[in-house]
Amino acid sequence: MDLNLTPSELQFRDELRTWLAANLPKNQPKPGASESDSAYLDFLREWQKTLFEGGWAGISWPKEYGGRGATLMEQAIFQEELAHANAPELIGTIGLALVGPTIIAMGTDEQKKYHLPKILSGEEIWCQGFSEPNAGSDLASLSTKAVLDGDHFVINGQKIWTSFAHFADWCLLLVRTDQDAAKHKGITCLLTDMHTEGISVRPLRMMSGDSAFNEVFFTDVRVPVSQVLGKINHGWTTAIAALMNERANLGSGLQVIFKRNLEALIACSKTLLRNGAPASQDPLARQKIAQIHIELEILGLNTMRALTSLKKTGIPGAEGSISKLYWSEMNQKLQQYAQEILGPYAQLSDFDDGIWSYGYLRARGNTIEAGTSEIQRNIIAERVLGLPKSY
Ligand SMILES: Cc1cc2nc3c(=O)[nH]c(=O)nc-3n(C[C@H](O)[C@H](O)[C@H](O)COP(=O)(O)OP(=O)(O)OC[C@H]3O[C@@H](n4cnc5c(N)ncnc54)[C@H](O)[C@@H]3O)c2cc1C
Repeated sequence: MDLNLTPSELQFRDELRTWLAANLPKNQPKPGASESDSAYLDFLREWQKTLFEGGWAGISWPKEYGGRGATLMEQAIFQEELAHANAPELIGTIGLALVGPTIIAMGTDEQKKYHLPKILSGEEIWCQGFSEPNAGSDLASLSTKAVLDGDHFVINGQKIWTSFAHFADWCLLLVRTDQDAAKHKGITCLLTDMHTEGISVRPLRMMSGDSAFNEVFFTDVRVPVSQVLGKINHGWTTAIAALMNERANLGSGLQVIFKRNLEALIACSKTLLRNGAPASQDPLARQKIAQIHIELEILGLNTMRALTSLKKTGIPGAEGSISKLYWSEMNQKLQQYAQEILGPYAQLSDFDDGIWSYGYLRARGNTIEAGTSEIQRNIIAERVLGLPKSY
């Protein structure tokens, strides 16, 4: 893979830079704004709409589905430029990175026509209803039940840790539709309108103070059969495609946030005095900052490797698990180093708008969400290294 920019890529970058300079929101909320603050969420919805109207939403999606058909390199340039411009995060991440690509691969024409433009514009915010109290890593043990009644499924059960369910419009929902089949069979994936009667959402509070995920309860919820994504009782295949898209695509978006955090840490270390001199003069602090810089570069290269494999095969590969493992462990390291470099200040909620105290606590969830580190290591061991199963 040639990492030098071609003339057309340079043109793409300059066009994007010009657009960002003209369209970035002037009054961005303070860094560290909460994922459960409704004013912040409205701000992010508006930003997603601006990106869409400017033709910059879902840029790697095929043109026929409203994307830009961007190349891998353009996708990487896009992420870089958002980071450099200090652009807000993308609110529609689950829709853009996980649901949209899965609908493109497995959806009916009606589903594509209805949902894809709304995902791109931010009109539809999605959540992912996979995990249950007794089915996380062992997802196929899920027990939320859906029974066919005419042309609808009737759903009863509970999901947990459902990020963004408190404001999501739609949910990519996994349900058990055949009680007697083996556990990986008899599962169906449903595109579920979160405004349907019988769905109740109860926020859970994280140790960061945020309530960005929820318990979701389903009582006699009716979902039309036309909203099945993939085939009835073959939802495991749909779920795996969605999870692989999640692992392949999420890291590239997060890189934007990590770069910004590293830049903030560097800036802070130049002004904050430790033992009478700026923290940035401490050789150990400098080594830690350089280490994170290097790891971020590796993350970028590995993301491109995952995208290259995706382009060649059309299916996200196990490289996505490497990315997932890498970004989650790397962010925890970045947050840990920030605490060490900035010292006790980093734990104060009014120092640097609280980004360091919040970031440290929020990063603990990184090695759990989207598949735990233990599970990712198992996948890499089996599918990349060809080692035997551990159990
Ligand atoms: C911040 C956050 C956001 C989330 N958002 C969502 C969401 O939007 N939608 C959603 O559906 N879910 C979401 N989740 C849930 C997440 O996907 C699950 O928590 C995760 O898959 C782990 O499942 P579990 O919690 O049931 O833990 P368990 O599966 O009970 O695992 C407990 C521990 O045992 C280890 N373990 C389990 N099995 C094995 C094995 N075979 N080999 C080695 N170790 C093993 C795990 O790695 C873990 O360390 C979110 C979680 C977090 C923390």
